[in-house]
Amino acid sequence: MPTLITPLSGWGRYPVQFCELERPERYADLRPDADSVIARGQGRSYGDAALNENGRVLLTERVNRLLEFDMVNGILRAEAGTTLAEILDVIVPVGWFLPVTPGTKFVSLGGCVAADVHGKNHHHEGSFGDHVLSMELILADGSRVACSPSEKAVLFWATVGGMGLTGIIGEVTFKLIPIQSALMKVHHHAAVDLEQLFRLMQDPDLDDRYTVAWIDSLATGKKLGRGIAMCGHHAVAEDVPDNFHGDIKPAHSHSVPFDFPAWVLNPLSISAFNSRYYKREAGRRYPFLSNHDSYFYPLDAIAHWNRMYGKRGFVQYQCVIPDATSFEGIRKLLEELSNSRRPSFLAVLKRLGLQGRGLLSFPMAGYTLALDLPIHDKGLFVLLNELDRIVLQHGGRVYLAKDARLSAESFRAMYPRYAEWLAIKNAVDPQNRFSSSLSRRLGIGGYPA
Ligand SMILES: Cc1cc2nc3c(=O)[nH]c(=O)nc-3n(C[C@H](O)[C@H](O)[C@H](O)COP(=O)(O)OP(=O)(O)OC[C@H]3O[C@@H](n4cnc5c(N)ncnc54)[C@H](O)[C@@H]3O)c2cc1C
Repeated sequence: MPTLITPLSGWGRYPVQFCELERPERYADLRPDADSVIARGQGRSYGDAALNENGRVLLTERVNRLLEFDMVNGILRAEAGTTLAEILDVIVPVGWFLPVTPGTKFVSLGGCVAADVHGKNHHHEGSFGDHVLSMELILADGSRVACSPSEKAVLFWATVGGMGLTGIIGEVTFKLIPIQSALMKVHHHAAVDLEQLFRLMQDPDLDDRYTVAWIDSLATGKKLGRGIAMCGHHAVAEDVPDNFHGDIKPAHSHSVPFDFPAWVLNPLSISAFNSRYYKREAGRRYPFLSNHDSYFYPLDAIAHWNRMYGKRGFVQYQCVIPDATSFEGIRKLLEELSNSRRPSFLAVLKRLGLQGRGLLSFPMAGYTLALDLPIHDKGLFVLLNELDRIVLQHGGRVYLAKDARLSAESFRAMYPRYAEWLAIKNAVDPQNRFSSSLSRRLGIGGYPA
C-alpha cells in the first residue's frame, strides 16, 4: 500500500512530527503492516496520541460505512472511521441520539472508544465505553477478534481508553438513546465565585442530564472561579410552547482563514471577552430552547478554530480531581493560572461520575477542568509541570487524549492500573507494534511496569 511521509500534528498543532501515512480504502486493508503503527481517526486529540514520529500512522477516515441500524432498539454498528457527525445525520431525524458525545462531532468512533471519551452527562451516564456492546479488533498478528463486556472482556476494557495501543478498532456496535426532539431545553445559572459554582453544580434541584460550566479563567481575588453552569436535556413535548412550530437553526458556520498573530489572544483581549460573555450569559435567567448542535458543539461552528492560537499552537490541559479534594484542587489550579497571567481562552468545568471501567480510562468521580493555553514560550511548560504537581497532590490525573507533555513518571503515578493493562498489552502485542509518540514519551508498553 502506498505511503507518504509528511509533518503531522494533533488538534493543538503541537508537536509537529514527521510520520509515514497510510490510508486504507477498505475495511479489509486495515492491517498493521509496519514495525511501529498507530491508528488515527479525525486527529482531534490535541497532542501526540495519534502521531508516530518516524513510524506508520494508519488513517481510518475512508473506513466509514454504517453497517447496521436497528431503529426499533436503537443499536448501531459502524466501521470505526465513521464520524459522530455522519452518525447524527442519520439517527437524529428518526428520534435517536448518541449516548455520550464529546464537545466536537468531528471525531471518529474508533477515537471515541480508544480515548473512552466523556460528555456533559458523565455524572449520570458514564463514558462512551459504557455504551459499547461489542467491537472488532485487529491485533498485531493481523488476526481479527470480537470482544465485548462479556466476551474477551479483559481485552475489551484494555482497549476502551487504551489509546489505540492494543490494536486497530475495526468496527463498533453501541447503544443509542431515544429523543423526542432535536431541540435542547437549557438553563443557565451564574456564579459569582468558585464556591458558588461548585454549589450550583452539586445542587440536585438544578442538576440536569447534561451539565457543564464555563469559567472566567482571568477573574482573580473574590471573583476567582466565577462562571456559568449550563444545564440541559433533550426537549420533550411539554418543553416546547404550543405556539412554537419551527426549528432553531444552528449558529452560522465561520472559518478562521489563517494563523492569528500571537498577540491577538492576550490577557487584555481575553479578559474583555470574558467580562462581556459573563454579563451576557448571566443575564439569561430563564430556561430557553437551543439547537442540539449549538448546545453540544459550539466550537464546530468555527472551522479551523485551532488557528486562532497562532503558528506555535496550543496545549489543552485537562485534568480531573477526585470529589474529596476537588474544590481545593481546582481552586489551587485556578490561582496558579491566574498568578501566571497566562490567558486561557477557554476554561471548562465538568462533573464526572464513577471511575471508568477501561484500565487506562481518564474519568473518576470528581471534577474535570480543561484549559486552552497558547504556546508563546517555554515558560508555559514550567507552569504545566506545576499544575501536574497540584493534580498529583490532590489524587487526580491528566487526560491522555489532550496531552502533549506529561512525564512518564507522572503518568505512572496518575494511572494506577497501568501494570494490569501492560500485562494484557504484552500478551496481545509482545513486540509492541502498536506504539505512538505519546506511548513512547510516557513509556507506555514495551517496558516492564
Ligand atoms: C473541540 C474539541 C472538544 C472535545 N471535547 C471532548 C470532550 O468533551 N470529552 C472528551 O472525552 N474528549 C473531547 N475531545 C477529545 C476527542 O474527543 C478525543 O481526542 C477523541 O479521541 C478524538 O477522536 P479522533 O477520531 O479525532 O481520534 P484521533 O485524535 O485521531 O486519535 C485519538 C486516539 O484514538 C486512537 N484511535 C483512533 N482511531 C482508532 C482506531 N480505529 N483503532 C484504534 N485506535 C484508534 C488513536 O490511536 C489515538 O490514540 C475534544 C476534542 C476537540 C477538538
